[in-house]
Amino acid sequence: MHTQLDTATNRLPDSLCTHTPACPPAEGSDREAAHVVVAHPEQGWSLLCNGVLLFEDTGELLPDGRVIPPHRTLAVVA
Ligand SMILES: [Zn+2]
Repeated sequence: MHTQLDTATNRLPDSLCTHTPACPPAEGSDREAAHVVVAHPEQGWSLLCNGVLLFEDTGELLPDGRVIPPHRTLAVVA
């Protein structure tokens, strides 16, 4: 079946956003404003509806694999 379903399957599978208006995309600098859809405080991370993994140290893992280092000052643990 070659219908317009092809277009639908090409959409980003990472976005879980069902909100209106839509939350900021993972590419935006305001990505942290998206809603938390899964929270695991005991493991120190939350999943936002735009696919961003937000860690309790303020670091982030984007759906495309990019890592955003924590943006609050921490002592280096190495
Ligand atoms: Zn959303």
